[in-house]
Amino acid sequence: MNILVINCGSSSLKFQLIDAQTEKLIAKGLCERIGIDGSRISYTPAGGEKTETAAPMKDHTDAIRLVLDALTNEKTGVVKSLDEIGAVGHRIVHGGENFAASTIITDEVIRAIEECNDLAPLHNPANLIGIAACKELMPETPMAAVFDTAFHQTMPEEAYLYGIPYEYYDKYKVRRYGFHGTSHSYVSHQAAKLLGRNYEDLKIIVCHLGNGASVSAVKNGKCVDTSMGLTPLEGLIMGTRSGDLDPAIIEYLCNKEGKSVGEILSELNKKSGVLGLSGGFSSDFRDLEDEFHKDSDFAVRTMNAFAYRVAKYIGAYTAAMNGVDAICFTAGLGENSGFIRDKICAYLGYLGIVLDPEANGKRGEDIDITTPDSRTRVLVIPTNEELAIARETYALVN
Ligand code: AMP
Repeated sequence: MNILVINCGSSSLKFQLIDAQTEKLIAKGLCERIGIDGSRISYTPAGGEKTETAAPMKDHTDAIRLVLDALTNEKTGVVKSLDEIGAVGHRIVHGGENFAASTIITDEVIRAIEECNDLAPLHNPANLIGIAACKELMPETPMAAVFDTAFHQTMPEEAYLYGIPYEYYDKYKVRRYGFHGTSHSYVSHQAAKLLGRNYEDLKIIVCHLGNGASVSAVKNGKCVDTSMGLTPLEGLIMGTRSGDLDPAIIEYLCNKEGKSVGEILSELNKKSGVLGLSGGFSSDFRDLEDEFHKDSDFAVRTMNAFAYRVAKYIGAYTAAMNGVDAICFTAGLGENSGFIRDKICAYLGYLGIVLDPEANGKRGEDIDITTPDSRTRVLVIPTNEELAIARETYALVN
């Protein structure tokens, strides 16, 4: 069965068509600038050429119509008709406490996702537009919702509660939710496979280090803690997000700079992280790594602070789980940068970690980068959120 995986943003839409039985990618692409001048679709059939076409898209329904046209195109398409798409899997950012697992989309599910809009005002409404557009164009095709937050719903109360008046949890559900759950779930399962061990017997720490970055602790097959919170702003220093800070800083900066809370929050989301720490140089870790090797002050302080924060979380989660069997690195930076993995692991001598430099230099495969005598395993596992969504969708509709 072919599964169409849709990841809908406010003005963009990423898609992949995946054969659920062979788990092979059939085609993928991206619609950009939906509802804005200059919209375009890029489309790549597996093993074929990437094409980019300017095409007006006034809304997400137009975008999905173009996606379906591309997939069924006589010359470059990959399926003869829409009947060959067995189900659609939608990435949904926030499921709140309503969803601890993926689910088939019904009218009731749509209403429950809408209830979470306040918690992810930039993402959930866009995700819902994607669902509505698919419903209109493929009314008979089953759809599944796969939530970024669901994997973390197993966290115990002591991990998800903040130290604020309990009535705010009671009234507004202010708590830690965590994100990147599809990636943390996929990577921790792959880790167990790579180690040839039972998932339920392991203590795993997953470091998802991309432009957005988060760490999770997975004990005996269940997430027990994660670094992102009510929103994705908490936790690690990220590409442009600050991560953890003293909340009093917000009022302090409002007073000093004469800015509103909204303005400061926007800076914490969009102008902070490694972009902010490097004095506005770049949010791209590749640029910063290059500058680090040239001993540029701004890059040295930025990369040092980034690596330190990750190591600190690994230490905290080792304590939370009373040990760790494997630490996994994934996402753009985690998968590709031996330099950052080395820098983080330099803090972890107490875990008996010994990296194998040759293995740490490899890319693109699930690999153990430690020597045989290393007391704790360190793994690199390329994440594949689309495949994870396709797997979940297939399991639900099959
Ligand atoms: P993601 O959000 O997972 O797509 O990751 C994006 C981040 O990964 C960007 O900041 C990239 O600079 C970083 N990245 C990708 N490739 C590399 C690489 N070879 N070395 C260092 N960072 C990389």
